[in-house]
Amino acid sequence: MQAQYDMVIESDADSEPKTTGMKGSRKLFVKSFGCQMNVYDSQRMADTLAPEGYVETATPEDADLVILNTCHIREKAAEKVYSEIGRIRRVKEAAAAEGRRVLIAVAGCVAQAEGGEIIRRAPAVDLVVGSQNYHHLGALVARAERAGKVVDTQFPIEDKFAALPAPSLAATRARGVTAFVTVQEGCDKFCTFCVVPYTRGAETSRPVEKIVAEVERLAEAGVREVTLIGQNVNAYHGEGADGRPWSLARLLARVAEVPGIDRLRYTTSHPRDMDDDLIAAHRDLPQLMPQLHLPVQSGSDRILAAMNRRHTRADYLGLASRLRRARPDLALTSDFIVGFPGETEADFDATLSLAAEVGYSAAFSFKYSPRPGTPGAEMDEQVEDAMKSERLHRLQETIDRSQAAFNRGCLGRIFPVLFERPGRYDGQLVGRSPYLQAVQVRASSAMIGKIAAVTVTEIASNSLFGALAEADAQEPALAGAGA
Ligand code: SF4
Repeated sequence: MQAQYDMVIESDADSEPKTTGMKGSRKLFVKSFGCQMNVYDSQRMADTLAPEGYVETATPEDADLVILNTCHIREKAAEKVYSEIGRIRRVKEAAAAEGRRVLIAVAGCVAQAEGGEIIRRAPAVDLVVGSQNYHHLGALVARAERAGKVVDTQFPIEDKFAALPAPSLAATRARGVTAFVTVQEGCDKFCTFCVVPYTRGAETSRPVEKIVAEVERLAEAGVREVTLIGQNVNAYHGEGADGRPWSLARLLARVAEVPGIDRLRYTTSHPRDMDDDLIAAHRDLPQLMPQLHLPVQSGSDRILAAMNRRHTRADYLGLASRLRRARPDLALTSDFIVGFPGETEADFDATLSLAAEVGYSAAFSFKYSPRPGTPGAEMDEQVEDAMKSERLHRLQETIDRSQAAFNRGCLGRIFPVLFERPGRYDGQLVGRSPYLQAVQVRASSAMIGKIAAVTVTEIASNSLFGALAEADAQEPALAGAGA
């Protein structure tokens, strides 16, 4: 399961080609919901449509094609998509009144799960495309333009990634100095609360050489930090140059050799797939940042078994200790679900005590909500919503305390910060610490894309404030983090 957020794929109109190939310029607005996988997919959808003459725009009002790249993880996901479609339908009607045609496409996990039902409920939608089919977007959009409604949610035989065009250097540069690269898709774990195995299909891994080629291209465009992503990324087993399956640890070591890539991360991991080599990579690979998202979901063995997580509380705590022995400054983050069917007060206390024992630097926590078609939705002993809310509040207090303690420990320290973009105020930049905290610093925009030593001077709930440190003032312990 991935950490969730909403994102709009925005464009830098000055750095994008106005037209591509022989086709006239049309405008594309992609709204991405959910996890990093969807953000990556949204960018690749834009890449797929660029040869068709589509350039990205920041608002649906001037778009010729609107794609909603949906997520099915959160509660009432489908209802939220229908309400968003309602908003875009009004944009479509306004454009039609001016004699302009706007197509609406729904992509991603809700599209995969709902299929043609989306068009039945929302006739303004022209195209429904599943998460494994968007490499055909150009042809599907053309068919929708010609023939009306199109639905494609089959799991195809061919490799989607092999068919996707490489993004232009201009498009890659406009996306910034950090990038996601999907290396793995799908999941075979079948946690009883989760729709991913049904919407994304079985685990597949991209070949090593394709990933390395993509990372080399990103480095050429100025990317300094790459996050390898997958629904269950540490189950990676893609084919290496030797024709054998490579582990994620081996892939990370290979990607770390790409010149210009100073920082690596990976997400999202399952505790069962953290093997010895991957733990050792946290000790041995200086480019691998000391932060790991390792979802636990519950601290109760009884609930972990009901969730089909296939690990115990002791397994998880043992893993956290081994990781911290390998990399003592490792910051752990996690996902929690409270109020899973059958969760008692004792089960929940076990979750609270696990969260306190691990001492997370941050964590996402959610109330359990049944997903149609998953075993959890059919279970007896569903927990009342008021109880879920009350437990969620208590868990979040525990997480907030450990996050605040972690951030307090950063005060006065010197970190290598990768500057990513301008801050909210003139003369301010936002960068990331090795622990993935946002750090706001007064610095020249010429520093974007550079890694510099920053002294942390102030902490807020969601970010740190800092000042550029003297050139020779970097903490030796973090010197390997790509500065
Ligand atoms: S490991 Fe479990 S929670 Fe994560 S994607 Fe697979 S089924 Fe979903």
